[in-house]
Amino acid sequence: MKKEIFGLPMHELQTALAELGFKKFRAKQIYDWLYRKCIFDFAQMTNLGKAERELLQERFSVLPAAVSIVRRLDSSDGLTHKLLLELPDGNAIETVLMHHDYGYSVCVSSQAGCDMHCAFCASGLNGAVRNLTVAEILTQVYVFNAQLYPQQERVSRVVVMGSGEPMLNFDAVFGALQFLHQTDVANISYRNMTVSTCGIVPGIERMQALGLPISLAVSLHAVKPDLRTELMPVNKGYPFPDVIAAAERYARSSGRQVTYEYILLRDMNDSDADAELLAEYLRYKEAGVNLIPVNPIPEKGFYWPDKKRIERFLSILQRHRIHATVRKEMGKDINAACGQLRAAFAEEKYCRK
Ligand code: SF4
Repeated sequence: MKKEIFGLPMHELQTALAELGFKKFRAKQIYDWLYRKCIFDFAQMTNLGKAERELLQERFSVLPAAVSIVRRLDSSDGLTHKLLLELPDGNAIETVLMHHDYGYSVCVSSQAGCDMHCAFCASGLNGAVRNLTVAEILTQVYVFNAQLYPQQERVSRVVVMGSGEPMLNFDAVFGALQFLHQTDVANISYRNMTVSTCGIVPGIERMQALGLPISLAVSLHAVKPDLRTELMPVNKGYPFPDVIAAAERYARSSGRQVTYEYILLRDMNDSDADAELLAEYLRYKEAGVNLIPVNPIPEKGFYWPDKKRIERFLSILQRHRIHATVRKEMGKDINAACGQLRAAFAEEKYCRK
């Protein structure tokens, strides 16, 4: 079986190449092809000898060359692009590129599927299939870097907010982020990375122990215990006040403000009383709130609050001096399919069997 080379640390690559009789500097050349020029085919690595290229081809695989783009959705404003990638084992994952005025940002998945069963999310429909590897997480960034390279552009921000709960795949997620941070890889600053959790307290504590200035986002979505448990069953194991306490410790030790994601669901969590209670929980915390009007799911009774309600909710938070914004609606026309592309793909495959 071929050894996966994508995401291999430099010293491991040097060792693997030395065993094949390669000179030490070849590892740096290969890094340059893979991570700067986004060339994933050994045959195109023209500063290596023919025999070396053939040997590399025989011994190693490069994941971005082995994934296929099954579907692509482009938003009508041209700023958001979503890809459904099929991995060599047949699993599929979604990855999204967003073009902001400050650069390109990619939202990556951390697991194929998710076991957290949040009520508003399609990713959890069939549970978690498996954790993604470091190479699979990196590949989600590099399929876009490869497309941007001819324009001399590259991804400068990464958010781990796609399918899966990153804290349940901690080593691979943070391994991939540390790899992307390296100057000879993607050179992405830790400050331009965000990990979003549904509230796994031990994961937040491990993240704190790492001591890296990566931003933390917490999916909160409700501050009434019963409603939060209904929307996010993880609340049974990790009640949200404990999550907020852990996130606050993280904010204090990292110096990074925590972002609380709050999906606004009409007549469920969008009242004045909800806003007051949310402000109460976050008072004097290193916290910001990102309000997200829900993508309507009528069969679950989830509807978009009207504009006035959203503004009123926002103004209550602001009155309490909580930094709050309403999420900029990027690619709204394709956001509606968040997690659903993968679900539809899984269903198709299942039906074909
Ligand atoms: S919202 Fe996140 S944690 Fe919840 S089911 Fe979806 S992917 Fe999993």
